Amino acid sequence: MSTARASVLERFRQPLVLRDYPLPDRLAPGAALVRTSMAGICGTDVHLWKGELPIQLPVILGHETVGRIERLGEGLDRDWSGQPLKEGDRVTWTSTSSCGRCFYCAEKRQPTRCPERRAYGIGYRCDEAPHFFGGYAEFHLLQPRVHVFKLPDGLSDEAVVGAGCALVTAIHGIERMGIEWRDTVVIQGAGPVGISALAVAKTSGASKVIVIGGPKHRLEMAERFGADATIDLDELPDSARRLARVRELTGGHGADAVVECVGAPQAVAEGWELCRDGGRYLVLGHYCDAGPQPLNPHVITRKQLTVFGSWSSEPRHMHSALKFLADRPDQFPFAGMVTHRFKLEQADAALQLVSRWEAGKCVIEP
Ligand SMILES: [Zn+2]
Ligand SMILES: [Zn+2]
Repeated sequence: MSTARASVLERFRQPLVLRDYPLPDRLAPGAALVRTSMAGICGTDVHLWKGELPIQLPVILGHETVGRIERLGEGLDRDWSGQPLKEGDRVTWTSTSSCGRCFYCAEKRQPTRCPERRAYGIGYRCDEAPHFFGGYAEFHLLQPRVHVFKLPDGLSDEAVVGAGCALVTAIHGIERMGIEWRDTVVIQGAGPVGISALAVAKTSGASKVIVIGGPKHRLEMAERFGADATIDLDELPDSARRLARVRELTGGHGADAVVECVGAPQAVAEGWELCRDGGRYLVLGHYCDAGPQPLNPHVITRKQLTVFGSWSSEPRHMHSALKFLADRPDQFPFAGMVTHRFKLEQADAALQLVSRWEAGKCVIEP
């Protein structure tokens, strides 16, 4: 086969278009060509489709992808953790790679802030060869230096894509903030990042994890993932009453650690109040710039809060995420988050369904 199909975002807020692009004749050393088995639709894809992030079009969306290796470039014979790699292996990969040499990569060890980072499914125009740098396509090209992970047989595509970029984001964020043994934790938001943060908090030694969010089906998912208490925004629409409820659940003090997984600026002001004095606050949900918000810095000083930010993830977080998923399929049913499956030609319908925030995880199976 010399060409393959991709579903392409050519204009913001317009239907995705099915295109044929030529597959590469030969691969660069260290590169790989993967046949896509499943591509997740992330909330970020909706923001990209709406033009809310600065990207160049046309682009093949999709940065949570699983596939089988079709061809390996010279020298790529092991995955990130050193396992031998061969054609036919089922793999996933990090959607971004850092340069490893710059000020942030080498000196400050914050590779997620590398200025050379570009993400598959976001930062590559697809009208230029080699075209296939996104998940919504029959094939995906992995460039040299990409971090490939061979998937163990017991770990399903659904679990990997169901956890998607949310789990690695949560692992990195909670690593930065830290959760101490017996901490009480509040998660603001019950979307994919909130559910992932819940799973990570539960296994990091938290004594109680409270999830604030909605609608109901998301809170039910939080309960399935072991939330000790949930607070429904529809039932307690008043911020002061939510604060009172959190205090009631935390011995009157507020939580040791609060994780924002909402993406709405007003959640941050509320979140600071949900922390106990001397508590920690992590802003994890603001991948898009949702605009400024009046915040009172006095709260940080008076309560002696520590505030953290976290962006994206590193390959080692993907490595831990895959082990975590393989170890605990019953405790944390990420595979069960996949609710809708679509063919490649239905990618636009899938994206529209996700944009209405009605479905669980939607996936494309080219
Ligand atoms: Zn994502
Ligand atoms: Zn760098």
